[in-house]
Amino acid sequence: VIRRAEHPFIPACLNQIDPLFVEATLAAEDRRFFTHPGVDPAAALRAAWQNIRSGRMISGGSTLTQQLVNLLDAQPPPVNQGEHGRDIRESAWGRKLRTAWLALALETRWSKKHILEAYFNLASYGTDLQGVRAACRTYFSHDPDTLTLEQAALLAALPQSPVRLDPRRRPADARTARNRVLQRMKIDGGTRSNAEARSLGIVAAPPVPGTSIAPHWMARLAQLPHQVCEVRLPLDRSLQIEASAALRDVMLDLEDLGADAGGVVVIHNSSGEMRASVGSPDWEHPGHGQVDGTMALRQPGSALKPFAYAMAFERGLRPSSILPDLPLSHPGTDGVFRPRNYSGLHRGPVRARIALANSWNAPAVALLSELGAAEFLDLLHSLGLNSLDRPAGEYGLGLILGVGEVTLADLTAAYACLARGGVFFPRMEILEALDSEGSPVPNPNPEQSRTLHDPDGATAAQTAPHRIFGTDACFLTLSILSDEEARAPAFGRGPLLTFPYAAAIKTGTSSDWRDNWAFGLTEEWTVGVWVGTAGGGPMDRVSGTRGALRVMRKLLDYLHEDSPGDTGPDDPTAAEPGRFTPPWGFERRWICALSGMPAGPRCPGRVPEWFSLSDPQSRACDWHLIVEIDSASGLLARECTPEDRVHEALFVQSGSVDPIGSPPGIFEPWFREQGLPLPPSRASACECLDPQCRPLHRLSPGPRFDDAAPASTRIWNPVDGSVYFIDPTLPAAQQAIALEGSGDGVELVWFVNGEEYARTRHGERVFWPLSPGCHEIVLRSHAHGGQARVDAVRIVVEEGG
Ligand SMILES: [Zn+2]
Ligand SMILES: [Zn+2]
Repeated sequence: VIRRAEHPFIPACLNQIDPLFVEATLAAEDRRFFTHPGVDPAAALRAAWQNIRSGRMISGGSTLTQQLVNLLDAQPPPVNQGEHGRDIRESAWGRKLRTAWLALALETRWSKKHILEAYFNLASYGTDLQGVRAACRTYFSHDPDTLTLEQAALLAALPQSPVRLDPRRRPADARTARNRVLQRMKIDGGTRSNAEARSLGIVAAPPVPGTSIAPHWMARLAQLPHQVCEVRLPLDRSLQIEASAALRDVMLDLEDLGADAGGVVVIHNSSGEMRASVGSPDWEHPGHGQVDGTMALRQPGSALKPFAYAMAFERGLRPSSILPDLPLSHPGTDGVFRPRNYSGLHRGPVRARIALANSWNAPAVALLSELGAAEFLDLLHSLGLNSLDRPAGEYGLGLILGVGEVTLADLTAAYACLARGGVFFPRMEILEALDSEGSPVPNPNPEQSRTLHDPDGATAAQTAPHRIFGTDACFLTLSILSDEEARAPAFGRGPLLTFPYAAAIKTGTSSDWRDNWAFGLTEEWTVGVWVGTAGGGPMDRVSGTRGALRVMRKLLDYLHEDSPGDTGPDDPTAAEPGRFTPPWGFERRWICALSGMPAGPRCPGRVPEWFSLSDPQSRACDWHLIVEIDSASGLLARECTPEDRVHEALFVQSGSVDPIGSPPGIFEPWFREQGLPLPPSRASACECLDPQCRPLHRLSPGPRFDDAAPASTRIWNPVDGSVYFIDPTLPAAQQAIALEGSGDGVELVWFVNGEEYARTRHGERVFWPLSPGCHEIVLRSHAHGGQARVDAVRIVVEEGG
């Protein structure tokens, strides 16, 4: 809980405090302050007499010096010992004696001025308000150097009972107490009755953020309606401090590259609460430290792509579906749109999993052209990204590449929707707001950014949680964004990208390296980070691994410090570390790595993929086919071709599955360009001259996947026939592949090149460091009957360069 008026200690010197306030305080608390030695026997006697007469402790009779001793005293106040009233009184009296003795001692060392100054800075003037300066700024929006009579009297009355008299919550009580102080002051009757008649004059003070742990947040609260006096924030202090430190540390490294602005937002998924929000690496920075990076409108780069894929999964796309990674032209409203991958390289047919995991542009544009930019824009609006306020036609297909502008706060809330399984919660940065009477103010959370531009008033519906994606679509999206193998082609591997807990990550980079984004999603948390420049100019190639991603990783690690890295061997149903748990009704099936179709026996690359049980099996891969070739001519063999010249050869064609959003046969030129062997279209010349002699037909691509299902002992990774490259620029320790398999035995035994390498349990992974050469990897598991089952793959590791 943080109160709006929270101001950490900002000391004020006596000469910065209006003498009227000193006068009011002495009238209220300690008339003989300047003459007594620290204890006022007359006041103490009168208090004792009152207490004895009433039988209760109703008056302290303490001097300001005694009160200061109590404020300075680190000891907690006497503990209420229950029903034994005498115990309380005795400990209270004992404490009073000790305080009196200490007050006398303090007076011999400190001047009266020094004591007053310390008192004014330590006394409490309201809930969470320490010191007169903080109180003055909160209540009256100015410093205590000039106060009106009634302001001085009000402040002087508060330390007696700062919570009960808090003028923001109990204005009537505060006013009574103020007028009592006015009665005790030596002023003429007219002035007094004038002052007594005045209202408290409490303003909804803009906070003084420079001293807060969340200054930008405090500054945003200043925009709340005036009747709000107190707010409860979902802010988690230690997380906020951690987030500020993480951003500051990383930004220090990026200074030379021109990055000088950034922001962090952390959302607790199940509650939707914003638990941390950092608006800049350094609030005190004179130029732009106060600019709120979580609210800045910036281009999201690739960071909108996951929402398009999730939307497509809702509509029947599978992670195994093929998208074209080709330099295609897409007609747009303002001409022809030709997206290019950053590398300039195009990969032909790519599975949706690979396209999203590597954030390739051309497949995403093809996908958006299928979904429709206008419908995607509607989806983004329902995810709270209302700053995208131009018509869909103006963004066109570039929308998926981040031509619009969004805020970090909005985008993090949109990502939290994916982490939450598809239900969108509006950004919640205020838990509760109270007015001066302590009643809740409805809808305290600030309107989402730029809602004013929403012409059809659709925003009302967006303030309530609403479902946008199904849990299945969210799971598939998260399973892709957490797939270390799938993203390795574009992002490589390394400690930053390998998580001991299930984490989906997405980065984004806008054109010319202006903006650098990273989002991290776990079951419980969503972390969003933006790094850029305050002026909106380019940075010097700040990549995700140097910028936002590092901040995001630090925070995710901090948030998952306590999470067990291993769920233990006793619970086979427990979620595997590093993997999201699929919803009910999902299973892994083997698919062809190239076609995404159920793997056939001829497919050289098989990969596991998640499918809904209700998803019917389509026919097995027909992209890989075996053709009988006459080795003498390289053409199709004929019936008369001598048997010793006939051999089977594997060819690749774009088979029966058409890529999403593209005409059939679109990959043929790409296959040719890649130099992939296409099956010959002609047969060898006939040697028998028999008119009945025919070319041998192409063989069928093989039995259906189901029939080809091997025994239950399977190596999931690596895939048979894979070729790995050792990257000479990366440390050798980071270049390992995960050995991953399943079997029905309790223990899985891995052999590499004939030697036992490791023993794992079902679902566990073990890493094998790459070494150049050709390697055979064998997995053996012992079924219950004691019969060993085996699966084997061969891989090649080459030295990259
Ligand atoms: Zn295949
Ligand atoms: Zn022939």
